[in-house]
Amino acid sequence: MKIRTRYAPSPTGKMHVGNLRSALYEFLIAKHDGGDFMLRIEDTDQERFVEGATEIIYRTMAKTGLVHDEGPDKDGGYGPYVQSERMKTGIYMKYAKELIEKKEAYYCFCDKERLEALKSEVKDGEVITKYDKHCLSLSPEEIEKNLNEGKPFVIRQNIPEEGTTTFHDELYGDITVDNAELDDMILIKSDGYPTYNFANVIDDHTMNITHVVRGNEYLSSSPKYVRLYDAFGWSVPTYIHLPLITDENHKKLSKRSGHASFEDLEDQGFLTEAIINYVALLGWSPEDNNEIFSLDELIEKFDYRRISKSPAVFDIVKLRWMNGEYIKAMDDDKFFAMAEKYIDEAIKGKNLDKKKLSAMVKTRIEVFPDIPELIDFFAELPEYDTAMYEHKKMKTTKESSLALLKEILPVLEACNDYSNDNLYKLLVDFATAHEYKNGYVLWPVRTATSGKQMTPAGATEIMELLGKEESISRIKKGIELLEK
Ligand code: GLU
Repeated sequence: MKIRTRYAPSPTGKMHVGNLRSALYEFLIAKHDGGDFMLRIEDTDQERFVEGATEIIYRTMAKTGLVHDEGPDKDGGYGPYVQSERMKTGIYMKYAKELIEKKEAYYCFCDKERLEALKSEVKDGEVITKYDKHCLSLSPEEIEKNLNEGKPFVIRQNIPEEGTTTFHDELYGDITVDNAELDDMILIKSDGYPTYNFANVIDDHTMNITHVVRGNEYLSSSPKYVRLYDAFGWSVPTYIHLPLITDENHKKLSKRSGHASFEDLEDQGFLTEAIINYVALLGWSPEDNNEIFSLDELIEKFDYRRISKSPAVFDIVKLRWMNGEYIKAMDDDKFFAMAEKYIDEAIKGKNLDKKKLSAMVKTRIEVFPDIPELIDFFAELPEYDTAMYEHKKMKTTKESSLALLKEILPVLEACNDYSNDNLYKLLVDFATAHEYKNGYVLWPVRTATSGKQMTPAGATEIMELLGKEESISRIKKGIELLEK
């Protein structure tokens, strides 16, 4: 049997990391086995629909390389692929009526007031309404009359009050629940739209879906889905419910954590490949300890049996590290093309060799927005604390640095070749001649020319980029500050 998976997002906003993970795993399961991956838009909840959300889904999937074989824009013979369009074909109502005939569902005409009265608080302020099957006992005549009068109705699933229902999940195993715990959920709403719960089952079956991957918030509803499959006599797809994704504080990853969606991560400068690679590891791990995978490698390696049940922690530090690895592996020209705007931001129109700056930062950043802070001292010497001249290992103090800068100034003034190689030779020769350790010379020079504790380059590389005039002026400034 050919594997068919689907990503079935509800267009309700940005593409959450959890959604992206579901989409990715569905894609990988299908592609690992040469199967088909489908996109289905679940827009039956009109109240939650957000303008533009469908476009975000298309854009994100195209950008991440999760290319679907079938979907609203690619007919594969199972369309329509948008639930609101499927509804117009009458498909959901047809199947709901079939269930009514089988006594697996029934019309319910209860009004708001009556349903309100059935509400009860379970715990932590969570309110549930367990429907009391009031309308199950309506006679066919009463139903007929209500329908003829145009009385608003919903169609509910009829779940027996006794017995149990067992459902199988690939990760969680067999789960058995008492039917008494299950509510007679609504299948068709009063606006005629199916609920997510119903449409999902009908569509997964009629679209021949073999594997369903989704967040484990759906785990508790799954017994109800299984009852629907059984009622129709359909075979149940393989269910894979994914572990929760939490933030660093083990709280459910939410908008508040600031990196909950693909778009947030993009805005923070993460590379698409790194995001996908990282998201793949949120709950799944390969057999070996390797962590860097291209999408093609993921397709080859992915085995859903290796997904873990324990919550996956979204560790932004780890993602930053991973992004840095992708940046290091990038082709230099490609890197420059992406880095240039950040370099421009840092050097504020100063005439500096941008290619050299690019090479300097490439191995030192984790995300592109790290660039300006790393090199902005080239554009302008920052205010700095002279305590930075003190360095235990280099054996430098403020006094020794002042003396050294005064000694080196004429040497630098006399020099006309400000290439890194020449400057380096000059300073090292100077150190040797005075029996100084190299660091004893290089540290104060680097501090004076950068005004920074940490720099992406050594003293002579900095001076090469600054040029003679600016380098000398900064050394003089250092002397002035140390003399105070
Ligand atoms: N439309 C549901 C959602 O976006 C899909 C859940 C599922 O994959 O079954 O959460």
